[in-house]
Amino acid sequence: MFGKWTRRSTLLVAIGAAGLLLLIAAALFIVRRQADAAPVRAAFSDLLRDLDRGAVAGIVISGDELDFTRRDGTTARTTAPANYVTANPDFIPGLARKDVRIDVKAPRDQSAYDYGAVLIAVLFVGTLGFALYRMNSGRIPALENKTRAADREASTVTFDDVAGVDEAKEEVRELVDFLREPGRFAGIGGRIPKGVLLVGPPGTGKTLLARSIAGEARVPFLFASGSDFVEMYAGVGASRIRKLFKDARRHQACIVFIDELDAVGRSRGGTSLSHEEREQTLNQLLVEMDGFAPNQGIVVIAATNRPDILDPALLRPGRFDRQVTVGAPDLKGREQILRIHAKKVAVDDRVDLRQVARGTPGFSGAELANLVNEAALHAVRSGRQIVTGGDFDQARDKVLMGAERKSLTMSEHERVTCAYHESGHAVVAALLPHADPLHKVTIIPRGRALGVTMQLPEGDRHTHTREFLEAQIAILMGGRVAEEIFLRQMTSGAGNDIERSTEIARRMVCEFGMSPNLGPLAYRQADGERGAGISESTAQRVDEEVREIVMRGYETARQIVDKRRAAVRAMAEELLVVESLDAEGIREILGRSA
Ligand code: ADP
Ligand code: MG
Ligand code: ZN
Repeated sequence: MFGKWTRRSTLLVAIGAAGLLLLIAAALFIVRRQADAAPVRAAFSDLLRDLDRGAVAGIVISGDELDFTRRDGTTARTTAPANYVTANPDFIPGLARKDVRIDVKAPRDQSAYDYGAVLIAVLFVGTLGFALYRMNSGRIPALENKTRAADREASTVTFDDVAGVDEAKEEVRELVDFLREPGRFAGIGGRIPKGVLLVGPPGTGKTLLARSIAGEARVPFLFASGSDFVEMYAGVGASRIRKLFKDARRHQACIVFIDELDAVGRSRGGTSLSHEEREQTLNQLLVEMDGFAPNQGIVVIAATNRPDILDPALLRPGRFDRQVTVGAPDLKGREQILRIHAKKVAVDDRVDLRQVARGTPGFSGAELANLVNEAALHAVRSGRQIVTGGDFDQARDKVLMGAERKSLTMSEHERVTCAYHESGHAVVAALLPHADPLHKVTIIPRGRALGVTMQLPEGDRHTHTREFLEAQIAILMGGRVAEEIFLRQMTSGAGNDIERSTEIARRMVCEFGMSPNLGPLAYRQADGERGAGISESTAQRVDEEVREIVMRGYETARQIVDKRRAAVRAMAEELLVVESLDAEGIREILGRSA
C-alpha cells in the first residue's frame, strides 16, 4: 500500500509541475504578445519627418509594417501605404545613405502566435485530462488489462507447478472437475462451494494454487486484488466488482480470484477514512456472490492471511463457506518446490537440493523461488553458466538477511524444544484410549505457534465425556512434561497449553458438574471473579478441585512420557529432520519404539 501511495503521489507531483510550467509558459507568451502587439503607434508622416531630420537610428521592415528606433532611443511602429517599400526603389538606398540600420523581417504573421496559443491550450487540456484520468478512473482500464493478461496465463500453470501443499491441493481438486463440466455436476446434485477461501501466510502459493485450478480446468482466470479496490474514490470499487462479475458471467465457467480479500473484507464499522468506500465494495461483493446460481460455473476464490479480521458476512453459507489452509512447506515440500524452480536454471548435478531444503527451515515457497533466482544471479555474476552449491549458500544468506523473516526461523535450541514438546503431546494423545486420533504433528511455525499437534475428531461431536476432557488435559500437559523430562527445562511455550487445560478443568467443575466433591451445580465464576451464588469457602473448593483435575492430567502425561521415553525421543528426532509427520508416520514410530 505504501509503495503504491508513493508512486501515485510522485505521479501527481510530476503532473502538477508540468501543469505549472505550462501555465508560466502561457503567461510569458501572453505578456510577450501584448508587448509585441502594443508598440507606440506613429503616423507614416512622422517616420518620413524623422528620417528627413536624420533622427532615425534603425528600422525593421516587415512587409508594410515598419518599426523604427530613433537616435534618442524611443521606438515607434507605423504602417506604410500598401507596397510602399517595394514600390519605391529609392526608399531603402535613401535609408542607407542616412546611416539608418536596416533590418528586414518576414511580414508579421498573426497566425503564428495563434498556433502557439492553440498548442499551449492543447497541451494544457491534455495534461489536465491525463491527471484526472489517472486520479479517477484510470484504474478501471487497468483492471481490464489485468483480467485479460490473467486469462491468457491461466492455461500455463498446473498442479505440477505447486508443491508442498498437498492437502490444499487435495481439497481443491473437486473444483477442477466441477469447472470442467458444471452442468453435469449440477445434474447429479453435487454441492459445489461458490466461494473458497485460501488461508495462509504470504508467499505460500495461494495465488499460484488458484491459477493452477484454472489451468487444470482450462477455464479463464479473472484476477483482482482487494487492495486495488479500496484506494479508489467512492463507488469505484463497487463498480469494479460489478464489472468483474459481469465479465465472469460471460464465460461458460471461470474462476474469479480476489487476492488480499482482507483489504475489502475487514469487519465493517471501522473508523478509518476509507471505510465507507470499503463497505460499499464489500456489500457489492456480497450482492454479486448471492446473485449467481451454484450451477453457473463460477467459482470465486479469495486469498487472505488474516481470516480472523474478515467480516463474518463473508463466511456465511453460499459465500466463502469453505476454507483451505495453505501452510508453509515442510522439508519434503521445500525440496519439491526447489526442484520445480531449479528446473528453470542450470544447476550443477552435485547440488543436493534436499540439503538446501534442510538449511532453509521456515522458508515460504516464494522465498525458495527467490533463493533459486538469487543463486542463479550469483552464478552469473561470478561468470559461470552453472549454479553451484556455493551459489545457493550465498543466496540463502542474502534471502535470510532481507525481509522480516527472522521471526519465522527458530534457533536450533528452539527447534529441539519444539520437537520434544510436540512429541510429548503426540505420544500422550496416541496412547490415551479416549482421545481423538492423531492427524499430524509439525514443528513448522504457523501464526504464533511454533509447532502444532493436530487431532482429528471422529465425526461431529457436540458433547464430551468426562474421560475425553481428562484426556484432553493430559495431552495438553504432555508438551510441558516432555520438556521437563528430556531437556530439564520449563519454557513459556507451554503457556497456551496451560491456559487451555485450566479452562477445561474449570468448566468441568463449574459448568458440567463433573467434580464428585462439588456435585452437579452451576458455580458461576464470571471472568474469573466470584459471581453471585458462590460463597468464599465454595470458591476455594472450586479452585482446589480445578487444580486437582489439572494435576491429575499432568500426572497421567508424566507417566506416559516416562514410560515411552524411547518413542518420544524417536519422534522428536524424526521431526527435527522431516518437520512434519502424518498419522501413519506417527504410528510407524510408535510401533518401532514400543
Ligand atoms: P501467495 O499468493 O500465497 O502470497 P504466491 O502464489 O503469490 O504466494 O507465490 C509467489 C511465487 O512463489 C509463486 O509464483 C511461485 O513462483 C513461488 N511459490 C510460492 N509457493 C509455491 C509453492 N507451493 N510451490 C511452488 N512455487 C511456489
Ligand atoms: Mg499472492
Ligand atoms: Zn503445546
